[in-house]
Amino acid sequence: MVPEIIDVHLHCFVGQQHGEVVARDLALLRREGVARLTVAGMVTTDQDRDIIWNLVPDYVDNQGDPCFNEADDLLALAARSGEMLLPLVDTRYIRGDVATTLDGFVRQGFRGIKGIYLPDNENDLGVGNVPETLGISLEQYRRREWELFAYAEEHDLPLLYHMDARRYGDTMKALLDDFPRVRVNFPHLGIGRKAFCAFLDRYPNVFTDVANLLPHIRNNPASYRDFIMHYPDRVCFGSDAFLYQAGMVLDYISMVKELGLPEEIEAQVFCDNPVRFLGRALEGV
Ligand SMILES: [Zn+2]
Repeated sequence: MVPEIIDVHLHCFVGQQHGEVVARDLALLRREGVARLTVAGMVTTDQDRDIIWNLVPDYVDNQGDPCFNEADDLLALAARSGEMLLPLVDTRYIRGDVATTLDGFVRQGFRGIKGIYLPDNENDLGVGNVPETLGISLEQYRRREWELFAYAEEHDLPLLYHMDARRYGDTMKALLDDFPRVRVNFPHLGIGRKAFCAFLDRYPNVFTDVANLLPHIRNNPASYRDFIMHYPDRVCFGSDAFLYQAGMVLDYISMVKELGLPEEIEAQVFCDNPVRFLGRALEGV
């Protein structure tokens, strides 16, 4: 039997006005075996687009809300999708009390949390940093990220958290030591596989995904295949596609199939690992 496919890593960047196109794309993906798509939607309260773009990579072609306040659009699209879209709230711009803010988004229908660790300008995406962008101190920013992890752990919510294991390994370790029960996906194979191995070896609730790695994996399939074979219960299927890029999800499915993994491990990547990572988020609320 062909396993269902769950993509744990997409971004929104569309609006409700794209409802028809999104519905058509979702129908196409469903025919190709895709059951669920986890989609991060940004939330902002600022109106200054220069400030907002400071934390968004230049390659983003934003077709949704120009100020990246995507909550209403994403929730409306998810409601229309028949449970196919699982919305995660992207926390990079949130201000104020974390628990109160997240309570509000969960009540609205978000199923999990997306974060990104941007303490300085040395990040892998070439975007600005959160403390300067939001006008807070590094300590305040770190406290905010700690509270995100605490909230995810306490409420049993999946956390998709972009973080470079090579550069921020000490912080990654400190977060995991403080929140051993949180189910967290550090995507893109931790950004550095060598540095990230130590975390997969040590922390059983840590997951990762293959999002945005297609050119690298196609360049060196044997090495990535070995990595997945070594951590068969941790690597999830993910694309990093935007909601208007259904074709990209299909490219990522082909890429994984081309690795020629044993059938049961391929099924773990496409389905079993995403199911364990997402947990209760798949059941609805
Ligand atoms: Zn992403």
